[in-house]
Amino acid sequence: MPALFLKPEREKSLLRRHPWVFSGAVERVSGDPRPGETVDVCNARGQWLARAAYSPVSQIRARVWTFDPDEAVDADFFRRRIHAALQRRAVLGFSPVPQTGERPAHVTTDAFRLVHAESDGLPGLVVDRYGDVLVLQSLTAGSDFWRETLADLLMEATGAVALYERSDADVRALEGLAPRVGILRGVWHSPRLSIYEHGLNVWVDVERGHKTGFYLDQRTNRKRVGEMAQGRDVLNCFCYTGGFTLHAAAGGANSVLSVDTSAEALALARENARQNALPSDRLDWLEADVFTALRKFRDQNRSWDLIILDPPKFAPTAAQAEKAARGYKDINRLAFKLLRPGGILVTFSCSGGIDAALFQKIVASAALDAGVDAQIVEHLSQAPDHPVALHFPEGAYLKGLVCIKCD
Ligand code: SAH
Repeated sequence: MPALFLKPEREKSLLRRHPWVFSGAVERVSGDPRPGETVDVCNARGQWLARAAYSPVSQIRARVWTFDPDEAVDADFFRRRIHAALQRRAVLGFSPVPQTGERPAHVTTDAFRLVHAESDGLPGLVVDRYGDVLVLQSLTAGSDFWRETLADLLMEATGAVALYERSDADVRALEGLAPRVGILRGVWHSPRLSIYEHGLNVWVDVERGHKTGFYLDQRTNRKRVGEMAQGRDVLNCFCYTGGFTLHAAAGGANSVLSVDTSAEALALARENARQNALPSDRLDWLEADVFTALRKFRDQNRSWDLIILDPPKFAPTAAQAEKAARGYKDINRLAFKLLRPGGILVTFSCSGGIDAALFQKIVASAALDAGVDAQIVEHLSQAPDHPVALHFPEGAYLKGLVCIKCD
């Protein structure tokens, strides 16, 4: 088997079970592996450390499949990993439910993440389930190498009717991979699927939507916002297809104004409100840039009781953190100003390059600049079907704070 030899003293992170080998740690590669091929990883003295997927272009030169010297990386290996990921979801209450007939009362959703990449021991592989359809994202050379095997195993393990590929995330370019989208397995009836989540029906456009179609990671936070919304005037910034809006309206909000730049997302959001028979006279939709809209609201002296800020990733990596920090601070400062005393700000960052401590600092300095006193009353994170392996802290990408503006 081809092998990758590390420079002296560069095996520390692997000994702590962190799955990444950076290019700077690599002394030499033997055996001329192809992109994605499995290589043995050895320290400078030639001792075996791990078996990993080789990625010649990426800064992350290899991603570990297994730390067990007796474990081969083959179809059986992937079958075991997929099965284990499914079992863990089942323990959390995420299992497939019949797509026809009555929904069992205990079932909160039929859309959840089955495989969360490194945190499920499968670097580069993301699989989301929407009812009886699976959507796969392959993000690395390693997951691409095994794509056909993974597709067969996923169909076998889940009994899904179709598997669609959405490998069009920007990060693929860092691995030297071109985008790939299309049907991988099964029969595809419609790009638009109806899922349900905590009592609401939601249209998901798997072909044209963001990521695999929907932000499953915010599920528990959407429910939380629904619980806070009763009688409140709500401003939902970066609303996408209406996630937080629907839950706020169903939770008895007095009004919800939802803002997004995407006309397509807003159109689907409106349809989602209609299909749940939510009161249209309480819902307003605005196609606008949030940075501009918040300034306009400030100049108009408008105010709200509950504001949600769920922007896109401003800083995918630490390199963009400074510019991203300015963006986060700007919208949080304006939101604090637009909040009524006693009002609630629910603010998020999904940037890998900004950790929880830094995000809290940014929000604190936003409040300071706004001349506002506020308290953090809750810390929020990604839903439990997006787990974080303890040895892979990078897996904890979604940070949220619930703040109350003091009188
Ligand atoms: N909260 C949503 C997900 C938000 S995703 C949910 O729970 O489903 C981020 C959204 O921000 C996307 O819909 C994108 O179209 C929108 N967006 C990106 N930049 C924006 C900007 N400057 N102003 C307004 N919306 C923006």
